[in-house]
Amino acid sequence: MVIEINVKDVKVYYKSIKALDGVSLSVHNGEILSIIGPNGAGKSTLLKVINGVLKPRMGVVFINEKPLEKIPRKEIAQKTGVVPQRIRLMGMLSVYDFVMTGRRPYINFTPSKIDEEKVYEALKIVDAIDFVDRTLEELSGGELQRVIIARALAGEPEVMLLDEPTSNLDLKYQLEILNLIKSLRSKGLAIIMAIHDLTQAYRVSDKVLLLNKGKVFAAGEPDDVLNPKTIFDVYGVPIIVIKDYKLITTLEV
Ligand code: ADP
Repeated sequence: MVIEINVKDVKVYYKSIKALDGVSLSVHNGEILSIIGPNGAGKSTLLKVINGVLKPRMGVVFINEKPLEKIPRKEIAQKTGVVPQRIRLMGMLSVYDFVMTGRRPYINFTPSKIDEEKVYEALKIVDAIDFVDRTLEELSGGELQRVIIARALAGEPEVMLLDEPTSNLDLKYQLEILNLIKSLRSKGLAIIMAIHDLTQAYRVSDKVLLLNKGKVFAAGEPDDVLNPKTIFDVYGVPIIVIKDYKLITTLEV
């Protein structure tokens, strides 16, 4: 099964604010595309456009050459698994019930046996079966993030859209989430994520898209995009790239 997302020359405005200005990208299954860029560069907006939540003023998003606007909303919801930057924390909800909300695009009246199976499958992938009966407020940050990813996976997506999946986590959990995302790539999903940490973007991505003020500043393989000159031009911070360790670090803070 091949899936390809193509974004062509997308422009988005919030009233008079131009949030995206002629952005294009392409990604297919088995690839991780990281969207990087300073705050306000347009990363979240781009994810919302790909998810069909925001309609661009100009440009088109294609899934397998079909324009998003020609695909029924329900089908888009089935194809895409979304991990937002923030969820409205429904603290008293059980992990099971929360992950079941990821089955919404399939459920007509009440969840079926298949829906239940898919919830458990998703929890298994993220190694969260043990807390199925806990409430969301009884989870640590890292556990909660895994459960949010499980909710997205419960919908059997072909494309995962993740907005800053490692922010607010300590280092151990960040690496755990990144490994999980890499395992989803191995399963053949197409992965598009907004990410702040340049080292992490460098280590896990097949492609990197660097946004600056709503425009694509650079795009390509991590080595082509994440170099000292480009980073300095956009972030204004000197960096050194230590290739052997695949590490990018700031020279000084
Ligand atoms: P990033 O995710 O890279 O931080 P965003 O996509 O959130 O960037 O924002 C891009 C630009 O659009 C910023 O200038 C931001 O202030 C603006 N913006 C984002 N969401 C809204 C909104 N709902 N209303 C008005 N402006 C917005």
